Amino acid sequence: MDVRFDDATEAFRQEVRTWLEANVPRESMPSDPQGAFHYTRAWQKKMFDAGWAGIHWPKAYGGRGATLLEQAVFQQELARAQAPPMANILGLMIVGPTLMVHGTEEQKKRYIPRILSAEEIWCQGFSEPNSGSDLASLQTRAVEDGDDFVVHGQKIWTSMAHVADMCILLTRTDPQAPKHQGISFLLVDMHSPGVTVKPLRQLTGGAEFNEVFFENVRVPKQQLVGQLNDGWRIAMTTLTHERGSASFGTQVQMKRALDNIIDTAKKVKRNGQPLSADPVIRQKLAQAYIRVDVMRLNNYRSMTNQLRGQPPGPEASLDKLYWSEMNKWMQEIGQEILGPFSQLDPASRHYPTSVNLQYSFLWSRAETIYSGTSEIQRNIIGERVLGLPRG
Ligand SMILES: Cc1cc2nc3c(=O)[nH]c(=O)nc-3n(C[C@H](O)[C@H](O)[C@H](O)COP(=O)(O)OP(=O)(O)OC[C@H]3O[C@@H](n4cnc5c(N)ncnc54)[C@H](O)[C@@H]3O)c2cc1C
Repeated sequence: MDVRFDDATEAFRQEVRTWLEANVPRESMPSDPQGAFHYTRAWQKKMFDAGWAGIHWPKAYGGRGATLLEQAVFQQELARAQAPPMANILGLMIVGPTLMVHGTEEQKKRYIPRILSAEEIWCQGFSEPNSGSDLASLQTRAVEDGDDFVVHGQKIWTSMAHVADMCILLTRTDPQAPKHQGISFLLVDMHSPGVTVKPLRQLTGGAEFNEVFFENVRVPKQQLVGQLNDGWRIAMTTLTHERGSASFGTQVQMKRALDNIIDTAKKVKRNGQPLSADPVIRQKLAQAYIRVDVMRLNNYRSMTNQLRGQPPGPEASLDKLYWSEMNKWMQEIGQEILGPFSQLDPASRHYPTSVNLQYSFLWSRAETIYSGTSEIQRNIIGERVLGLPRG
């Protein structure tokens, strides 16, 4: 494995760097959710206009057709420039890639450009109150009626539904079939009559996910993706992208998270000494540094496999399990460094840093739950990667 980049990729790096230096917004992201949403949406539009949104997507779909190496460099440069995130995360990460594989030409033309430009924001309506890990047991029904499906049921934990224009929705279309075989994958307009969104307050204090109720919502049949009752197979494409596709960017986020913790260790003093000088804390930070770097090297390995033409498969679960558990562990070190300060309101003048480590710690728990909990990832690794017998 050669971890150096070739000249052409380094030239690409320079192009990205120059653009980011001139264009990353100077004003910081507003702290209120509404303001932050508009800010990230405007940023995505700017990236789109310059051809940087979805750079790894094929040119035919408005992307740049970037190579895997260019994608890696692009993520590194975004992190270096401290660029804000883009607003349409689920559209970019999972909806676009799913439609490119399974959508009709009409669906691709209609939706993909608007995903890239953040003109239409997407959410993912998979989980239900009684169907999370056992997703295939979902109960939301879609019944055929003339040219439409009529959808009735409830979804939960639907991130961004409160700002979304569109939703990828898993529905049961054949209640008699075995549970994995009676599911269909629909594209639903969130502004349709009968859709109600109720935000849920999270442990962090934010309210980015929601309950979504569908009461006899009419969805035209051309909004079906793939074949009727073949939705499970399509959902697997979506989940593979959700678990695996972003790992290069995620590694960079982990590095940034670690830098914030190290910065805090330099600022918080105990017995007159900064904690960065404490031998026990130094050991832990060194261990965290190693784990974050192992993630980087693992990413290079997956990239090498992909360059050799091997598609990402259930191994995506390994990445997801590794980084989410690592971040939870790392954020606990952050809390240990803060000590009693961790209990304070991060907006208070007594809180020792400008970085809100309390939020990062609370949020890190969510990462071990969404896109499949750690226990579920372990089951997938055991059964589908290692070939162990089912438990
Ligand atoms: C921040 C956040 C954002 C989310 N966003 C979305 C979204 O946008 N769209 C969406 O559809 N969903 C979303 N989810 C939901 C998420 O996918 C589910 O929470 C997750 O799949 C777990 O389902 P559950 O909450 O029903 O827990 P359950 O499935 O009820 O699990 C409860 C516990 O039992 C364990 N468990 C369950 N089955 C097994 C098993 N077979 N073996 C071992 N242990 C098991 C689980 O690991 C867990 O610890 C989000 C969740 C979070 C936290």
